[in-house]
Amino acid sequence: MSIRYIDEIDNLAGKKIFMRVDFNVPLDENQNITEDTRIRAVLPTLNYALDQKAKIVLASHLGRPKGERKEKYSMAPAAKRLSRLLGKEVKLAPDCIGPEVRAMVDAMQPGDILMLENVRFYQGEEKNDADFAKELVNGCEIYVNDAFAVSHRAHASVEAIANFIPVVTAGFLMKNEMNYFDKAMQNPIRPLVAILGGAKVSGKIEVLENLCDKVDKIIIGGGMAFTFLKGLGYNVGKSLVEDSLIDTAMATYQKAREKGVKFYLPVDCVVADQFNPAAETKVCTIQEIPEGWMALDIGPATVTLFAEALQNSKTIVWNGPMGVFEMDAFSRGTFAMVSAVANSYALTIVGGGDTDVAVHRAGEYAKISYISTGGGAFLELLEGKKLPGIKVLEDNGHKN
Ligand code: AMP
Repeated sequence: MSIRYIDEIDNLAGKKIFMRVDFNVPLDENQNITEDTRIRAVLPTLNYALDQKAKIVLASHLGRPKGERKEKYSMAPAAKRLSRLLGKEVKLAPDCIGPEVRAMVDAMQPGDILMLENVRFYQGEEKNDADFAKELVNGCEIYVNDAFAVSHRAHASVEAIANFIPVVTAGFLMKNEMNYFDKAMQNPIRPLVAILGGAKVSGKIEVLENLCDKVDKIIIGGGMAFTFLKGLGYNVGKSLVEDSLIDTAMATYQKAREKGVKFYLPVDCVVADQFNPAAETKVCTIQEIPEGWMALDIGPATVTLFAEALQNSKTIVWNGPMGVFEMDAFSRGTFAMVSAVANSYALTIVGGGDTDVAVHRAGEYAKISYISTGGGAFLELLEGKKLPGIKVLEDNGHKN
């Protein structure tokens, strides 16, 4: 079954919509929102529902209150910011369930928006508890999931609730995520290249396994490259290596080669004598990493090699930085790759929190075809998994 989207519902006027969004925005110590991309990301769906004169009940989590009411995790700052972005009142309910909330929902007028309090104030949320999910419905008739970033979680407001609301749909953010994922992994225009980076091989090995069956080339950078390089017999000094995963990494490397997937690893790197922005650094080939030094970025020859491997690509999927880009001395490799990806003639899809940050810092945001809002969810899709929040949309989308 396919997902049903909100614009496939005939008449939303006056209907009560329960919309799961991801307003888990970063806050400073004074509860100011430091970055509101997640709120802006759902504006198209919200505006559509508002134009249709629906009544919109918004639900989200924020932080990790672990099933207890903690004021510092209140949705109040998010409701306030949304109100400013929309230029209209967004009421904040005192809770997410209970008679008072239900009365507020019942009193809503067409075009009203009510933000529920943090759903993770209750343990039932993360336990995917059916009774809690039933209470969350609050009399709503249409469910809209526009929170791709939490769709890999079987939580009550993401999964269980979709069994208790008659009409089950997804919003436009979800539609974008699904469309781009389809273009990248299900029906890609080839050559399809995957770039993987980040700290460790663990957590990405399943992604690699799955990618071996799908892509034409794999480019590996970041800390994870050194487990492969050590497995290939190089002396990588004090670089990040997961010894227990060398065999697995080598098996994946072998699998890729057997399948004819071109596998690219760094040929040079920026090494440092300590993990510190002020460390002594130099550029060297992978063959010449000095004893006791650690590689914290890809080097210039690697950038040239990787950029050349991207030249003829038609689709690029990227997750994970090429080095410790948070420190200036080790950021060049990642930024150079951002530029190579941004200036390629391919459809480019970037996912995962860190990669997104790197693209922003490099100032190339507008040149990437799509930047996924999901970190873990994006990775799980790359692993070939069915996400629980998406499965329930597919299973229940066309029931009523
Ligand atoms: P991940 O969450 O696995 O995508 O890893 C992202 C982190 O990997 C970033 O914070 C980088 O600083 C880190 N990283 C990238 N390259 C290296 C490296 N060569 N050595 C150590 N850490 C790295």
